Amino acid sequence: MPPIRNLVVIFGDQLDLESNALQAFDPARDLIWMAEASGESTHVLSHKVRIAYFLSSMRHYAEELRARKYSVEYTKLNAENNSGDLGRELQTALRKFTPERVVAVEPGEYRIEQMLLATTKHAGAPLDLRPDTHFYCSRDVFAQWAKTHKQLRMEFFYREMRKKSGVLMEKGEPVGGRWNFDVENRGTFAKTGPAKTLKPPHSSPPDKITREVIELVNATFPSHPGSLDHFDLPVTTAQAEAALKDFVHHHLPDFGAYQDAMWTDQPFLYHSRLSGAMNLKLLNPRRVVMAVEDAYKRGHAPLAAAEGFIRQILGWREYIRGIYWTQMPKYIDSNALHASEKLPDLYWTAKTDMECLRQTVGHTLDYGYAHHIERLMVLGLYSLLFGVDPVEIHKWYLAIYWDAVEWVEMPNVIGMSQFADGGLMSTKPYAASGKYIDRMSNFCRNCRYKPAESIGEDACPFTTLYWDFLLKHEKLLSKNPRMLMQLKNLARLDAGKRKAIKHQAQLHREQTARGNY
Ligand SMILES: Cc1cc2nc3c(=O)[nH]c(=O)nc-3n(C[C@H](O)[C@H](O)[C@H](O)COP(=O)(O)OP(=O)(O)OC[C@H]3O[C@@H](n4cnc5c(N)ncnc54)[C@H](O)[C@@H]3O)c2cc1C
Ligand code: SF4
Repeated sequence: MPPIRNLVVIFGDQLDLESNALQAFDPARDLIWMAEASGESTHVLSHKVRIAYFLSSMRHYAEELRARKYSVEYTKLNAENNSGDLGRELQTALRKFTPERVVAVEPGEYRIEQMLLATTKHAGAPLDLRPDTHFYCSRDVFAQWAKTHKQLRMEFFYREMRKKSGVLMEKGEPVGGRWNFDVENRGTFAKTGPAKTLKPPHSSPPDKITREVIELVNATFPSHPGSLDHFDLPVTTAQAEAALKDFVHHHLPDFGAYQDAMWTDQPFLYHSRLSGAMNLKLLNPRRVVMAVEDAYKRGHAPLAAAEGFIRQILGWREYIRGIYWTQMPKYIDSNALHASEKLPDLYWTAKTDMECLRQTVGHTLDYGYAHHIERLMVLGLYSLLFGVDPVEIHKWYLAIYWDAVEWVEMPNVIGMSQFADGGLMSTKPYAASGKYIDRMSNFCRNCRYKPAESIGEDACPFTTLYWDFLLKHEKLLSKNPRMLMQLKNLARLDAGKRKAIKHQAQLHREQTARGNY
């Protein structure tokens, strides 16, 4: 074998056909290295869909590279001698090929970056670590922005991103005269639910490679949560672009209005289901933003829908990544509310009388998917109010969603949903009672609890735990002007009611720990 000049390392969430790592690649002297490692699926108990999604996308990507005449060294999960550990596999490759240098794009995850740095250093292989151009905002530019801002609010970051990118801008001003149409993004469905014309999301039926992966995952990880019965996710760039086109045509116009709404047996509603394809870099966020902006300009989608969607990508997604890289590695230790409860079993089983949790955990187990408001205002809310240890709930989210990669999962969980960072990201905790869920969904109509009740047989556990949360953290929250209204309502509770709520919350925690709710 001729000596290798560059060993180009590509990880499972870097499946970008225009990757910076591929620039100046010479098939005669360079080699791409990819490996499947079972440890990446077991360090958290990954959902079968998440595992299959990564493996199938990686295999398709390697095929596409070969078709484009790149030379690729690829280790499959079930290859003989595969140690199952990504770091060890890379060590073996470095010993085997002794390249002049290793080329890689900045990894998405802190743990992987540390592994890459340590492994190449140990092998004495110089590392050419290139910036990840998939994102609009580089790590350095975000770090600079963070240094010059006392409060790291998404809204201010988002406005700068709009100005810099020129997206939905006209002569230096936001199109429509406002930066944000958030107030128009909170619609709910009539009693009859979503329109009968609502289409299911775009489907990419499994091909031969995916079918083999499904078989492999079922055989290798039989005790992992979830099932692969519904697997139809886009595993190539072409499929992801078809899914984007389908979303823009069928769902974008109503995305804005129903972004926060939830409904029984409707996991997807008007959401795009594009997160995983973007996170694995099959789909470039610029393509997504351009397609949505174009739909607005063509008059296909209203401004509130287009802006609401673009805010998620150009704003939230970029901001969340910046938060992750400026806060790691200490971010995972955040626990401002001193939460220490174990994660209730129902998160793995969906076995509960609480209809909202039964539905949303059910969607999650069935599809490895739940939309944002289900993740934030049902699953995350219950954990926040219950007082689950942030590391426990973080591990659950990282394991259970097909789109879970740590840089996006962790700030959403630790910061946005659990307020464990004490307000670095959010101005106040996303704490609400069962009445919020009642307003935004039909779940309470099919539930044995009553969202307005906080004590007694029929009390909604969310409502009980909500008041208990405010009582427990009253002192800390009283320093927060945005909590004023909620604390004013708390002040109206007399001593007897406070005692009864605390008692009921305690009872609920004990019964949940025994699996009885
Ligand atoms: C507790 C919690 C955990 C989450 N974990 C993940 C995760 O592991 N991986 C992940 O990709 N997203 C995560 N999110 C963000 C968001 O919920 C998902 O991106 C979204 O539900 C994916 O479905 P979709 O593609 O249909 O999104 P849509 O509703 O169609 O939104 C469009 C796109 O906007 C982006 N987006 C929307 N909200 C966010 C956000 N808060 N942060 C970053 N990007 C956002 C996504 O790329 C998404 O595909 C989490 C949110 C919460 C509250
Ligand atoms: S009543 Fe409470 S537990 Fe039941 S669905 Fe509504 S919010 Fe959930």
